[in-house]
Amino acid sequence: MKIKQITAPLIIIAIIAFGCKSEGEPDITLKYNDNISLTWEETIAAYQELDRFYPEARLTEVGLTDIGKPLHLFMISADRDFDPESIREKGKCIVLVNNGIHPGEPEGIDASIEFAMNLLNDRDGKGKILKNTVIAIIPVYNIGGALDRSPYYRMNQHGPVDKGRRRNAKNMDLNRDFAKQDTRNAVSFARLFTTLNPDLFLDTHTTNGSDHQYVITLIPTLHSKMESNMGEFFKEKMLPELYRRMDQESGYPMIPYVMTMNRGDIRSGITGYNDAPFYSTGYTSLFNCFSFMTENLVYAPFPDRVRSVIAFLEHMTSFASENCEEIRSLKDEADRKIAEQEEFVLSWKLDPTYSENIEFRGYEYIQKESPLTGHRTGTYDHNQPWVDTIPYFTRYLPVDRVTRPGAYIIPQAWEEIGLKFLDNNITVHRLTEDMELDVEAYYIDNAESSARTTQGHHLNTNVKVRKETITMNYYRGDLVVIPNQAGNRYIVEMLEPHAPASWFAWNFFDSVLESHDFYSVWGFESHFMDLLDQDPQLRELFEARKESDPEFAADPVAQLGYLYQVAPVHEIEKWNRLYPVTRVIKTENLKIEKVEAE
Ligand SMILES: [Zn+2]
Repeated sequence: MKIKQITAPLIIIAIIAFGCKSEGEPDITLKYNDNISLTWEETIAAYQELDRFYPEARLTEVGLTDIGKPLHLFMISADRDFDPESIREKGKCIVLVNNGIHPGEPEGIDASIEFAMNLLNDRDGKGKILKNTVIAIIPVYNIGGALDRSPYYRMNQHGPVDKGRRRNAKNMDLNRDFAKQDTRNAVSFARLFTTLNPDLFLDTHTTNGSDHQYVITLIPTLHSKMESNMGEFFKEKMLPELYRRMDQESGYPMIPYVMTMNRGDIRSGITGYNDAPFYSTGYTSLFNCFSFMTENLVYAPFPDRVRSVIAFLEHMTSFASENCEEIRSLKDEADRKIAEQEEFVLSWKLDPTYSENIEFRGYEYIQKESPLTGHRTGTYDHNQPWVDTIPYFTRYLPVDRVTRPGAYIIPQAWEEIGLKFLDNNITVHRLTEDMELDVEAYYIDNAESSARTTQGHHLNTNVKVRKETITMNYYRGDLVVIPNQAGNRYIVEMLEPHAPASWFAWNFFDSVLESHDFYSVWGFESHFMDLLDQDPQLRELFEARKESDPEFAADPVAQLGYLYQVAPVHEIEKWNRLYPVTRVIKTENLKIEKVEAE
């Protein structure tokens, strides 16, 4: 008791002293008006200064990256509570911003610092959103790429002078690594993201995909893929309001990212972007988080690009704050519903019959002679601006559905893959004893491996599976993942082999595609003579085939192959192209214990 009486005033004094540190202004100089983006070191120093200056700000290290430097997370929390669970218990919203995933696209790096400064010193009352909203910023995600700067990267981009490299230290494009998580960056992100469990997420980028009159474009995750109430709110309320505010209140009108319906022809309409789970927003939206990427136009001047991102950050967070209660209840409800959801969609296709009209300000696309090569080439003519109404296609339809099993079993031979779930805050169990179980198993009937590597993988596409119920032996220590969790969509997307961004698609299970057993001609022939003697039905089948097919009758290799296929060799066949992760239907008798994350 005595100790408490003494220490309590000391803590208060310490907080007061801490609070007193904010005399004057923090010593931070942004250079984007001079066409310069801060280096990684300057960026971290700026956040350290904000952390030192404001008790409401905190910079922490949240894991490693491939280059060996720590990933940082900067948070602003008005009541100085930086514990995500406790923040959520208070009913506050959490907004996470990711910058510098492609360090040559650095608007968000500089914009986030100014945005944070404005909030912390309450410039023009901007700090009022902090009442119910906590801001989290990843200063630079691809640190390896940011440390390697050159004026020659992204050469057709209108500034800044020096730009970082797109790929990271492992030569990975980090915006393709969110699902499979081959990089330390992605593992650190998954841990921080699923711990923070934010309501809104923004990833900042720059695009050269087209030319038009806008400085900033937006890729919202597809509303069709979201839990229905969240999707409805996103499409009908949040997005229209963000476009409206950017248009009317920021000086930087914003349009959806330009993916044309017919290649290059903007007037034919633009479509929503199907952000698969290997993209940032594709991943974050699997966890019921309203997710966007801003894509600034490369041809717009860098200072304008940075200012447009500052404007978007302000409008996005103001909207979150004004609608915090509704956003929180939609997310909490979606977390509950997804945990109980029976059916999941694995792939989607654009609905070309449904569109909305939007106003678009473009430039005429013309063919003209190139002064460099003398050849005719396509270009956007800035002397011919146009304003028109164009269709915007945003609805995607389900193509492929699966129902959730009672549990997935991942044999421990593959445990380094299955344990990736722990980094994503997914609960994983192990069998506590050996068990024989009836399971639904997938056979991989077709998988086409890409000739060129993507992210160091020969991606499996056009995956066709056949589902069969079989009896299998499992052993103590095999992993069990029960899809009754808010992260169910991530579980299903990773484990169903025909999901487009699944771990199977990324070759993590390719050894099962190799033939495991076959026959030797000599031994097999005499063995089969015995089998035919014992099995008159098989002999009849074989003779009939020879009679009906002269080509077959003349081909000994085809005959042996045929017998191998139709003979009762089920025990061997059971393993042929069997995908090792199986689906347990009845889970009542499973003996399991929870795997504790390290
Ligand atoms: Zn990018």
